[in-house]
Amino acid sequence: MTTLFRAQTLDTPDDPFTGGALRSDSDAGLLVEGGVITDRGAFPALRAKHPHADVVELPGGVLLPGLVDTHVHFPQVRVIGALGMPLLEWLDRCALPEESRLAEVSYAREVAAEFTTALLAAGTTTALVFGSHFASAVDTLFEAATASGLRVTSGLVVSDRLLRDDLHTTAERAYDEGRALADRWHGTGNSRYAVTPRFALSCSDDVLAACGQLHKDLSDSWFTSHINENVAEVATVGTLFGGGSYLDTYDRHGLVGQRSVLAHNVHPTDAELKRLAAAGASVAHCPTSNAALGSGIFPLHRHLAHGVPVALGCDVGAGTGFSLFKEGLQAYLLQRLSGTDGVALTAAHLLHLATAAGAQALGLRDQVGDLSIGKKFDAMWVRPQSGTPLDIGMRHAAGPDDALAKVFALGTPYDVARVWIDGRQVSANN
Ligand SMILES: [Zn+2]
Repeated sequence: MTTLFRAQTLDTPDDPFTGGALRSDSDAGLLVEGGVITDRGAFPALRAKHPHADVVELPGGVLLPGLVDTHVHFPQVRVIGALGMPLLEWLDRCALPEESRLAEVSYAREVAAEFTTALLAAGTTTALVFGSHFASAVDTLFEAATASGLRVTSGLVVSDRLLRDDLHTTAERAYDEGRALADRWHGTGNSRYAVTPRFALSCSDDVLAACGQLHKDLSDSWFTSHINENVAEVATVGTLFGGGSYLDTYDRHGLVGQRSVLAHNVHPTDAELKRLAAAGASVAHCPTSNAALGSGIFPLHRHLAHGVPVALGCDVGAGTGFSLFKEGLQAYLLQRLSGTDGVALTAAHLLHLATAAGAQALGLRDQVGDLSIGKKFDAMWVRPQSGTPLDIGMRHAAGPDDALAKVFALGTPYDVARVWIDGRQVSANN
């Protein structure tokens, strides 16, 4: 099927952190065949060139690439918004009791449906997802993702200490259950497998070794975990592992490379940043979570100076919602409060962090992240309700950059009118 989409488009094919500018087309035509953008240009010319294509008009608002979330927890949909606690207390009192409930497969299935629906409604079309401690629950996530089309990379979360007994496993089980899940889901539809120890604090060296072995044996799996989020957590990890660096707890098991995404990294050492850059590993920056848990302000300039790739994650449920517009705005606000250490982020930077940078971190840059020819048609149409502040702001914007800044300042999932993955509409609103 051949479809010609007509819209105002904004995307960032060239990285604004290295001099690229926002790409804006006020009346773009995007020809989509088999889910892939096969031609683009000014709409009238493209229409003349492809007179038999079905035309989908998207008047008003803007068409953006589908958003890429590099850190979000599937089991935590129902605990978003528990404010007032630091990380370790929040885990004990809020997140982990809920994670235990996913042992029941019917409960997990309901949450998986809520989770995938919420991601898509926010315009997120690709996500690196922290799974569940229960293999049966991880199956429900992959089932829901496959049914919806969501481009998901996820896996079994493993731990063997300092959580709750029912969330603990063994090194042998961690390997075997992970292996079985990867055999079922890695490469099925848009699903891929990620080896996922919860964090070094809750994983013995034996469990991390099992993760390293699984990652090696699967050969093209992904690795994700948490790192350097909170000062008390960092100190405890140092004590548990005899004083080495947090990054080294993963690195010594072969878990740090180009297919690695580590969440937070609010308190890294320069040596860790150097090692991350050398390994080509990425960091998922989750600013609403960092602020909500009082974890600290992300040292973006140090990551950029060392050449560590950074993308955005919403970190639901410590993060305050699924929208990467909110995360982009929060990243901007926290950098503004960082004094001379802050990076002056523009709207183009924010869009890049929420799209192309995430695609790059997940090794999907050749497929998604912008609306160029050859990319999958993963896209979202931001078209606010008439008369809302966002609608008014966009209609009176000084130009494309200003309109995009308004999307990040004011946009919510309720402003996301339609979402497509592989050219197929997967969500619709207003
Ligand atoms: Zn997290």
